[in-house]
Amino acid sequence: MTDVKADTALVLVSGGQDSTVCLAWALERFARVETVGFDYGQRHAVELEVRETLREKLRALRPQWAQRLGDDHVIKIDALAAISETALTRETAIELGENGLPTTFVPARNLIFFCFAGALAYRRGASRIVTGVCETDYSGYPDCRDDTVKAMQVALGLGLDKRLVIETPLMWIDKAETFALAEEIGGPALLELVVEHTHSCYLGDRSRRHAWGYGCGECPACTLRGQGYEKFINRRKMA
Ligand code: ZN
Repeated sequence: MTDVKADTALVLVSGGQDSTVCLAWALERFARVETVGFDYGQRHAVELEVRETLREKLRALRPQWAQRLGDDHVIKIDALAAISETALTRETAIELGENGLPTTFVPARNLIFFCFAGALAYRRGASRIVTGVCETDYSGYPDCRDDTVKAMQVALGLGLDKRLVIETPLMWIDKAETFALAEEIGGPALLELVVEHTHSCYLGDRSRRHAWGYGCGECPACTLRGQGYEKFINRRKMA
């Protein structure tokens, strides 16, 4: 059993695998947990649609999680789509761009999310922000790196004149270890929930079911998830 802290945590939940595992991680640790999602004109809103299902399923998994899980907030940030030319908000091919970053990179997206999350955390009395950003898989995204997140924590703390901790439970682990973490926190039931109900596919495909969940099976997000799951299963066999 993990010690439960009296704090309120605000978890950034996109509906993907990473943020869902982070939500379970927070539900295990904090007395009150609220969730926030951002609607920024993603070309497929599937991720946002699975969020409520995920919250319901997590509530059903453990009575104490049901008690701790509080409000959900969805913040619309239209301006982000207006200033972004990216494969996540436009019908652009998903590939590596000239700058070496994938075309799925939305400039400053996570910085903007942190600012809104900080403002919301302030209003809701939350002292922790929990996010599934990770250096291991998405080192191409500079706003997911540990130094960026630490700098944001300092900036928010100063700008709000309030101590805010940004928790990043997945920062140094890979996709296989994220699946393992899900199983460690919530057993086979949580692992199954993550596979069945979270969504990663950039193309919004929920018609094809693989061992690792739904998706087109070919986009970078599906590839990463599929390879991570396979590695997780192989490691478990060897253990
Ligand atoms: Zn896909």
